[in-house]
Amino acid sequence: MNTALLMIRYHEIALKGGKRPVFEKQLARNIDKMLKRTFGSDAPIKVLRQTGRILVEAPWDDENQAKAQQTLEKVFGISSFSPMRKVDTHIETIKTAALEEFQKAIAAHGMPKTFRVQTRRSDKVFPESSTDLDRIFGSHLHAAFPDLQVELKKPELRLGIEIRRNQSYIWSQKFPGPGGLPVGSNGKLLALMSGGIDSPIAVLQILKRGSPVRFIHFDGAPFVGPESREKAEDLVRLVNQYQPAPERMHTIAFGKIQEKIALVTDAKMRTVLYRRMMMRISCRIARRIKALALVTGEALGQVASQTLENLVTIDRVSDLPILRPLIAYDKSEIIALAHHFKTFDTSVREAADCCTLFGDRHPTIYSTPAEAEEQEKNFDVEALVNEACEKIESWTFQDSRHNS
Ligand code: ATP
Ligand code: MG
Repeated sequence: MNTALLMIRYHEIALKGGKRPVFEKQLARNIDKMLKRTFGSDAPIKVLRQTGRILVEAPWDDENQAKAQQTLEKVFGISSFSPMRKVDTHIETIKTAALEEFQKAIAAHGMPKTFRVQTRRSDKVFPESSTDLDRIFGSHLHAAFPDLQVELKKPELRLGIEIRRNQSYIWSQKFPGPGGLPVGSNGKLLALMSGGIDSPIAVLQILKRGSPVRFIHFDGAPFVGPESREKAEDLVRLVNQYQPAPERMHTIAFGKIQEKIALVTDAKMRTVLYRRMMMRISCRIARRIKALALVTGEALGQVASQTLENLVTIDRVSDLPILRPLIAYDKSEIIALAHHFKTFDTSVREAADCCTLFGDRHPTIYSTPAEAEEQEKNFDVEALVNEACEKIESWTFQDSRHNS
């Protein structure tokens, strides 16, 4: 089996000035962990940091290369990556290897009309500038394929050459990464995870900004079936593939609590009241697990509970910031992302959510905190929060290889 090599590029991290080494280390660590989750913890995978790049060395074949690519597409912080060939740093050796790689690329993808060579020197081993080297290698290729046009801006085939002191690297394919920042480079969050379309996408958007995410799910059992909780678990499995370590889901037995609230409150107010309870309980759990803020999949005006008035009423009981990455998204934009991240099919599986239990068909659109507080005089808020936090169940998702 050959040693396969991948070159990994990142751009946003490069902007982070003094923090750059921290972000680079985090990204390299995440690549290592996530590849080992795919290939096994004892797989001989080496992740090396070089100036402005990360190199991955692993003894794998074509099939494993495809699996590695699928994994790297989920590592936030990567802007793009390329399979590479390593050669000694001698002009003639590079020329010969460049031509071979060029021929291979043409055999695999067909004859292009235009091409360019793109050379990058991180070590000034050769006296020539990168542009001079582009010309030297480019004319070598041109001599073999005289009909091809050189096109600098949008070539159909681009051959990359990275010159380093002893070894140089040649690539012809570039795959996009997911962008963003490496997970673990920002503080921890607790996400309210329903079984819907929005919450997994909210989590993925915030994971992209580098925050690891734990999950909390409110289970309406015995008034909703197990399929609702199972759906939330399956969604957690899917989004956990984007974190270097799979995070837990805490499940709150919420159905009986909702029943108690429903017995003594106005039907029109119940959705807002349940959501205030969810926030109180989530704040309590967030402090327990040292999460700095909450995340929800709410979007302004999407449903009755998400008018600005109701969001204000809900926010009032949270003593932690509530991050709502989808606040300005249309449903169609969220659905497009759900297709992109492949969460859609799971999200649309039939299952009831607890939010509408014992509710009115036309819940209030314009609540005020005072109205909610008035209703909450009818039950013991603190006792119900305590009850919920005592009965918490926690699920770990250790090995996502068996779950995906
Ligand atoms: P989704 O598609 O994510 O379910 P939605 O548009 O159906 O969202 P709601 O049901 O009002 O909207 O929920 C808004 C947000 O509240 C969800 O995105 C999620 O963050 C949280 N949420 C709702 N129900 C639950 C639940 N049972 N457990 C945990 N969080 C929930
Ligand atoms: Mg929902």
